[in-house]
Amino acid sequence: MKMWLVAVFALVIIIVSIFFSSTATSNAVNNKNDIIVIPVDVYIVDSGSYSSERTQQNIKDIFSKANTVWREAGIFFQIKSVSIADVNDFIIREMIDGNGAAIKQTPFYNKDVLNVYMSNFVGGEANGLSMPIDSIIMISDKTTLNDFRTLSHEFGHTLGLNHASHPEQLMHAGTNGLHLTKEEVSISRATALKIFT
Ligand SMILES: [Zn+2]
Repeated sequence: MKMWLVAVFALVIIIVSIFFSSTATSNAVNNKNDIIVIPVDVYIVDSGSYSSERTQQNIKDIFSKANTVWREAGIFFQIKSVSIADVNDFIIREMIDGNGAAIKQTPFYNKDVLNVYMSNFVGGEANGLSMPIDSIIMISDKTTLNDFRTLSHEFGHTLGLNHASHPEQLMHAGTNGLHLTKEEVSISRATALKIFT
């Protein structure tokens, strides 16, 4: 083979490999910036008066709607498992009082994911509650607002958001508002990356 032909052939291979490696790199970076996936274990509480009547299908539906809300932030809450949490009433009462120590000693908790508990009742008039440090959320069966909005709102607390003043905002305390501000999006993405990836 002539020398110049060998040189051209080698050059083509180099150019092609540079092209493919750069596409692969930029895809990896884009994917990481686009969607942050948060793994979730869901528990249907089975404990005396706290026992939830929610079904797997109902839970899937709520998550699907909540993920529509959070798509705006490029965050996806992925259900890893749905199981029955057959625990003592005391443990649920502790969680409602803001103490996650007892549930963490049971098989119904995983420190590496977000733990969402479906309960008939979560205390007082509350629709849901969030304990961000323990990655725990509780959702009542009897929400007075849309249940997917309650779940979406508690996701916001988990991701470091505080209450907002405008009724159309997701983080407003007493409405069905769904809007996330740019600042809330950047806070929640930063928190999600820190805690769950
Ligand atoms: Zn709240």
